[in-house]
This record gives sequence, structure tokens and C-alpha cells, in this order.
Amino acid sequence: MSEQSPKEEIILEGIAASPGIAHGTALLYLQKELDVPCYDLAPEVIDSEIERFDQAILQTREEITAVRHKVAASLGEGEARIFDAHLMVLEDSALLDEVNSELRSTNKNVESCYHKIAQRYISFFSSMEDEYLKERVTDIRDVSRRLLQNLIGMNKSNLGELTSHSIIVSEDITPSDTADMDRSKLLGFITDAGGQTSHSVIMARSMRIPAVVGLHNATQVIQSGDQILVDGYDGIVVINPSEERLFKYGKLASERRKLDEIYISVISEPSETKDGSPIGLMSNIEGAHEMEQVVAMRSNGVGLFRTEGIFLRHHGYPSESVQYDEYAAVVAAADDEPVIIRTLDIGGDKTLGDGGSEDDNSFMGFRAIRFCLGNEDIFKTQLRAILRSSAKGNVKIMYPMISGVAELRRANQILEEVKVDLRAENLAFDEGIEVGAMVEIPSAAAIIDLLAAEADFFSIGTNDLIQYLMAVDRLNDRVAHLYEPAHPAVLRTLKIIIDEANRLGKPVSVCGEIAGDPIYASLLLGMGATSLSLTSSMLPELKYFIRNVKIKDARALVEEVLLINDPVAVVRRLEAFRVETIGKR
Ligand code: PEP
Ligand code: MG
Repeated sequence: MSEQSPKEEIILEGIAASPGIAHGTALLYLQKELDVPCYDLAPEVIDSEIERFDQAILQTREEITAVRHKVAASLGEGEARIFDAHLMVLEDSALLDEVNSELRSTNKNVESCYHKIAQRYISFFSSMEDEYLKERVTDIRDVSRRLLQNLIGMNKSNLGELTSHSIIVSEDITPSDTADMDRSKLLGFITDAGGQTSHSVIMARSMRIPAVVGLHNATQVIQSGDQILVDGYDGIVVINPSEERLFKYGKLASERRKLDEIYISVISEPSETKDGSPIGLMSNIEGAHEMEQVVAMRSNGVGLFRTEGIFLRHHGYPSESVQYDEYAAVVAAADDEPVIIRTLDIGGDKTLGDGGSEDDNSFMGFRAIRFCLGNEDIFKTQLRAILRSSAKGNVKIMYPMISGVAELRRANQILEEVKVDLRAENLAFDEGIEVGAMVEIPSAAAIIDLLAAEADFFSIGTNDLIQYLMAVDRLNDRVAHLYEPAHPAVLRTLKIIIDEANRLGKPVSVCGEIAGDPIYASLLLGMGATSLSLTSSMLPELKYFIRNVKIKDARALVEEVLLINDPVAVVRRLEAFRVETIGKR
């Protein structure tokens, strides 16, 4: 037997997005339009081409039915109905007849005929006034993509149906992809695009799934089935890793595991600095399914409940009772610790695919509170559900993307109207419920004193605040190097917000991704933040750090770095402070 020589190692460098090391088989997940082949058929193969088409329809039918069962079991019958609509599209006799006659009249291969007819249906429905008919476009797109994949014989890559443990390789991963993802089979993911605060990366971090983003050409270099190694600490991906490299990484992974054990050992200790200042360590969540971990990590409640997670998982606008059940489950699990429920922040990279919140410049478009104030019914349904859940525990409401006083006032007015309705219906809620605002738009940062008249508390959303302050799209890998939390403009703005909130006696916490990073946490505490909200998987490390840091040293650190004009030098100083505090790790 001849010995096969090992394949050559290829190293790709990107942005470290979620820590950890993964080694496994790559699965390419391509979202771009399919490359549909078009060629002439000899007359004698026409019948077998039609048979090929029938087989593909059968296969697609079986797939859709299997997904339907899965969704019905996990999300309920209501959510599964969408797949009945898909089956109707798949077997629509008018469409199928048109494909057959196109094939017989042109003698072209069936995928090109099907693609042509499906595109015609898509353009027709897109031009309809009727919203219901317009929505059918998404169904036709989904079904035609699935059918074409089967016809072309493409390796299927539906993230909801992973069959083996895989590392996903994709141009990009959207939050709606991650909502469908079979998380138990996902070892890691890497993408061509993306920045450190995209929502799919935030999800990866919360699930402790290693991720590297901003690789530019991973989908061109890697093929499904390749063996790859993902280093989420340093942002490196190795294709065909050598035995030597795997050994080195194996050692690194075991060192990391030991460190994790050290961090987790302090989890039941009080959350306070070495010189005795209590620091609230709360969790960012997207749904009730995360509460087991939140409780296990001894979190001081939920500092940010990103409710759009529920909407993405339901692929639409869930009813009041569906929402209520989810909020009440979180509140019950939190056991009297505060739960800050943020109202719907749809838009940006979190869209429902219904066109409702999609804009060319989506991060600055019809997003979050803007969308809710423009869709009062959706907003009121959510506020009713949140208010009703407040009867069961310690609930606070928080509005995202507040840019000025008028928006905050209008949101509060609607909230009051909802309260009047609930009282009239004898439905209980917490009459003293507190209402807060996210500070994530520079205009809000500049008017904390004005907003303070309408809000009980503030939470700083640094993910967005940095992108707007620096004009750096948080998803765009080409400008990711400009996304600098240590930029003097960011540091000064954070200081202004925290100083102002403290002066006015309004609690202020930080819930952007930097809150979970010890090097930035030391700065935030030094500036006077007394509460941080982060993904619960990062909580042990942060608690370990906080228990070793002195608030007086953190304050001195702030004074020092505010005088440094170079962000790289700031990061170097913050790293050095971390090492001074907990040693080299
Ligand atoms: C933020 O912008 O910092 C934030 C916490 O909100 P999100 O990441 O959901 O936009
Ligand atoms: Mg935000």
C-alpha cells in the first residue's frame, strides 16, 4: 500500500471573535445566489430530464416535511405552518406545468428552466401591493433554492439540519441563520466578512463556540470536508493542520481548561473588588433557554434581555402570549434578581426577512425604537407581555437606540397607554416598574442630563456607540481595524456618560461586549460604573479579575490612559495592568 503524503498546511489570518480552539471537518455554508448551469439537451434525454426533475421534487418534499416535524416539536405547530406553505409552493401545478413546457420548447436543462420560471414568479409577487402576496416571495425563494440545490447536487448546508459535528465556513452568518442553527453539532465557525461585535459573534461567545471572522477568502480556499483548526484566541485558521500543530494546540487547550477551572473556583464568592467595592455582574441573554447557565454562573440577574432573539426564532412577530411565556420563564428563573427586558431591537444585522426593517444603510435606518414607534401594534403587544411578566418578579424595561428626548417621551407615553389598558382588563403588573434607556447613539451620550428626566437608569451599549462614534460599520471586515474601543474619543465619551449619570444619581451599567473583557472592565470600573452586563460564559473570568483589582488602582489607570493619544498604546497599558493585577495568563 502506498503511503499518502500529508496535505500542505495553509494558514489564514482573520479577526479573533470568540475564544477557544476547534478542530474538525469544514462545512461550506454558501448564501450567495446559486450558480445555475444552463446547457442544451439532446432530444432523446428530455424524458429522463423530466424524471430527474420529479425525483428532485420528491427529495425536496421529504426534506421540507422533515424540517416541519422538527420545528413543530421544538417551536410548536404554529411555527411549523410556514412549511405547509413551502410544500404548496413546491407542488404548485401551474408553476410545474410552466417548467415542463419551457423544457420541452427550449430543450434546455431543467434547473435553468425552473430557475427562469421561479424568478418570473418572484418578480410578479414582489410587485404586488397586497402584503400577504408579497410575503410569498420569501417562500418561493426558499423552496426554489432548496430544489435547485438538489437538482445541481450541491452539498446541502442548512444550519438547522447539521448531520455531523462541523465547523461552518461561510461568507457571513446572520442572526437568523444562528437562530436556526443546530448548536449541538456546531464546533466553530469562520467567516469571510464580519467584525467583533456582529450578533452572530456575540452568540458564538455566549455559547463558547470558537469563531474567527474577517478572513476575506475562506470560502474560496476551504472546501466542505477539509480538516481545519480554528484558533479563536489569535484569529488564525489552519487548513490541513500538521500533527505537530495539533499537538501544540492540544497543549494550549489543556492549559486554557486549567485556567477556566481557576476562574470557575471563585464563582460563588461575592462580586466585589479587592478593596471592597461591590460590582453587579449581570448577564446578557436572548431567551429563557440561557437561564440555566445564568443561574449556574451566579449572575446578579439579567442586565440585557435581547428580545429580538424570540422574534428571530419565530421568524416573525410572536403573539403576546408566546412572548409572555418567554419573559415569565426568565423572570421565574431569575428568582427576584432584576431582569432588564429590552424592547425589540430589530434592524441592523437582525432582520426578519419581511422587508419591515431592511434599509440600504440598515444600522442607521428604521431600527429598534424607531421601528417600534412606527409599528405601535407590535410595540404595544410586546409592552403588554413585558408588563404582565413584571407581576411575577423584578422586571425593568429598557428602550434601545434612543437618540433624543422626544423618542423616550413617546415610548413612555405608549407604555402608559398600555398600562391603562391592562388596569381596565384587571391584568396585574408592577406599578412601580422602572424604565431605562440604552446609551448607544452619540446624541444620547451628549444629553444624559436631558434624558435623565425621563429615565430611571441607563445602560451603555458600546457595540453600537463605538460604531456610530467612529463611523465604523460593526460588521464590515474592511474597516474592522478602525473599530477601536480604546480610541480616546470612545474613552472620553464613556467617561462623560458615567460621570453625568453618577452626578444625577441615575444607575448606569455597561452591556456592550467590552464589559466582558477584563482589560476594558478595569477602565469602566475606574470610571465609576458599578454594574456590568455580559455573556454569562465570560462571567467567571471577569469575576476572578474583579476580585483581584483595587478600585483605587483602576481609577488611577483611567487618569493615566486618558492622557494617551494612541489607541494601540492604550491597549498595551491596559494589558500590562491586567498582568499586574492577575499575573501573566
Ligand atoms: C450594544 O449596542 O452595545 C448592545 C448591547 O446592543 P446590541 O449589541 O444588541 O446592538
Ligand atoms: Mg446596540
